Amino acid sequence: MKDCIFCKIIIGQLPSMKVYEDADTIAFMDIAKDVDGHILVVPKRHYKNILDCDSVTLGNVMDTVKRISNHLTENCGYDGVNLLNASDESAGQSVPHFHIHIIPRKRNDGIDAWPVFNGAESGIEEIYNKIVMDADISCVIPGLKDLWFRQSLLSDKQTMSYNNAYGGTIAFPEEAWQGWYDRWIVNHENKRFYRYLKDNKVGFIGEIAYHFDDEIQKYIANIIIKAEYRGRGLGDRGLKLLCRLAKANGIDILYDDIAADNPAASLFLKNGFVEEYRTDKIIMFKKKL
Ligand code: AMP
Ligand code: ZN
Repeated sequence: MKDCIFCKIIIGQLPSMKVYEDADTIAFMDIAKDVDGHILVVPKRHYKNILDCDSVTLGNVMDTVKRISNHLTENCGYDGVNLLNASDESAGQSVPHFHIHIIPRKRNDGIDAWPVFNGAESGIEEIYNKIVMDADISCVIPGLKDLWFRQSLLSDKQTMSYNNAYGGTIAFPEEAWQGWYDRWIVNHENKRFYRYLKDNKVGFIGEIAYHFDDEIQKYIANIIIKAEYRGRGLGDRGLKLLCRLAKANGIDILYDDIAADNPAASLFLKNGFVEEYRTDKIIMFKKKL
């Protein structure tokens, strides 16, 4: 990448003290002179940091990090290593080309490579509830080209049978995708939140969303699991995820107005929603997040 100092080092436009190189990675001495043996390992392809780096490249980088670490401890008189990485400016990243710092260590070398933190501000449990992950279910922002799944979800009679009170299936033709995408994904204005639920093995399995309803001045949730994947507790996991994400986005109270005959009512009750009111058509559920 033009203007990237590490890319320039990789192509030889800038000098470096190269420690190791293979087809995908390169390692060179850090010029900081802050500690003996400070090495940087970088992928040859430009990625900003671990957040945009693909997992194959990341694996290559870590293979090189291990190779060098073993070399340092087996052949160079060191006992161990610290590995440091800053991904994003918020984390202190100063060069925007992914790199792992290796700091070789000797017993009793007096180096303190652990950051001095200020002490936690919140309880562990509170943060844990925000960040705990579901190993095989993730939520992803769909690309425009992925909207075929939403189309198939909304047009599937069995999936949408719970929605009969609102008319059952919903047409989502390709001509409508761009407009919908701009409104829900690109210009969400923090009033609209939309994600696909993705199972690591089968791919997209449903959607979770919420939006601020101007008329009733409430955040309304939405969760749909494709019929063929129901009965495996995915609705429960999806709803928990949605509540956590909504809370992390600063929302205090989440509502859902589900059709009165929707069998998913028990799912909401199980997840701490309470019935605020009902009409002959809908039940309005409410949860303080
Ligand atoms: P970070 O703050 O994690 O982004 O670290 C960037 C590191 O790159 C710092 O430790 C710098 O000393 C190092 N650095 C910057 N320019 C060069 C260069 N031309 N050659 C080697 N290391 C560099
Ligand atoms: Zn670069």
